[in-house]
Amino acid sequence: MTPVSTFAGKRVALFGLGGSGLATARALVAGGAEVAAWDDGESSRSKASDVPLVDLSSADWSHFAALVLSPGVPLTHPKPHWTAERAKSAGAEIIGDIELFARERAARAPNAPLVAITGTNGKSTTTALIAHILSEAGREVALGGNIGVPVLDLPPPALERIHVIECSSFQIDLAPSLRASVGLLINLTPDHLDRHGTMENYAAIKERLVAASDTAIVGLDDEYCRAIAARLKGAGRHVVGVSQAASDAADIYVDDHRICVRGSAEWLVDLRIAHALRGAHNGQNAAFAFAAARALGVEVNAISQSLKSFPGLAHRMEPVARRGRVLFVNDSKATNADAAEKALLSFQDIFWILGGKAKEGGIEPLRYLFPRVRKAYLIGAATENFAATLRGSVAFERCGTLDKAVAAAARDAAASEAAEPVVLLSPACASYDQFANFEARGDAFRALVRGL
Ligand code: ADP
Repeated sequence: MTPVSTFAGKRVALFGLGGSGLATARALVAGGAEVAAWDDGESSRSKASDVPLVDLSSADWSHFAALVLSPGVPLTHPKPHWTAERAKSAGAEIIGDIELFARERAARAPNAPLVAITGTNGKSTTTALIAHILSEAGREVALGGNIGVPVLDLPPPALERIHVIECSSFQIDLAPSLRASVGLLINLTPDHLDRHGTMENYAAIKERLVAASDTAIVGLDDEYCRAIAARLKGAGRHVVGVSQAASDAADIYVDDHRICVRGSAEWLVDLRIAHALRGAHNGQNAAFAFAAARALGVEVNAISQSLKSFPGLAHRMEPVARRGRVLFVNDSKATNADAAEKALLSFQDIFWILGGKAKEGGIEPLRYLFPRVRKAYLIGAATENFAATLRGSVAFERCGTLDKAVAAAARDAAASEAAEPVVLLSPACASYDQFANFEARGDAFRALVRGL
């Protein structure tokens, strides 16, 4: 744990007692803050027996120095949460756990290495990959943030330890003083616009992470990131431009499955030996991890070996089982069309399970991949929205729930003539309408497949 000492002796309101909220409350208490923690959910409160609970709706807000908000709670859109309104009226600052960590680092070890990773897609893969490369190179690594362990549950920042932290846009929005040694912005496509209002606002929040980093590693494959890279270069910042395709503008790029560095005559890493990093999108992730590891002084050969030994992450195009000719793939992490596109591009003869809480634009951008889909199995709130897009192009079935969808897709895939039919859970939707999170959805899929 990293005890938060910067609020010692001060009163702090904390709202949202999920995994990271609970860790934050404990870290504040350990550092000597007087915490008043709350959550609307009875079950979340019941898990927080070691944390001082105060009903914030009837509390006196005049003495709170800060409101620490869980990243899942709306700060601005669709409208500010009532705790955010109360904090604003009381003049209390509103921050999150990454901000508390950043302040602790500034106070205790300002030069402690910190790698912060953001982007619309590929964050977790790139974060895990960087951590893997660094640990294989013998460095002490603390991996967490938006992936796995909440940042304040990690050991404290220290010169000999590299923190590798995944940051969501919500966390960056609540972390105004985050300054990483190495900051990564992989890509930007529309996502979470219900929580950020506009694409411009969403992009501006993500830009903050790299704008405040000593070394900014920025993607050049979409117009928002290109503009950000140009702005930072214009401001004289140290920027490393990364592209997933051969490019004169990039410092590091992928050309025909090989990572290349501008100015170097030879390619440096052959990605075809990296079995858990298939697809152009993973080339982008690998190039970013390469750039970050180089910035931290890891040798090229060591990076190359580690890319090869990277085991991959659960819920991201994870092969779950084979039943006869049928392959079952869990891509529950694909919570938007852009991510689902990567999975659809990777297979033929797809029996596609999708649906949940739809994102802006739905699955219309995936229309060009519909010829690969033998049949679609719709679940959750997005059913009618997706049915309207699929109608006339792809056969589909309204399944309602995941268990019915898995049974129907497995049945049809087994009966198909294809050489390798693939039952693919790649929902192109958030999971919140039916599951606690994408992990719960993927675990349910795995269990249902095993049950067949
Ligand atoms: P994040 O943490 O940003 O959500 P993940 O690494 O967990 O990203 O990958 C989630 C899904 O997004 C993957 O299953 C894949 O379909 C897709 N994806 C991964 N990397 C990229 C990328 N660089 N560009 C676009 N899509 C990607």
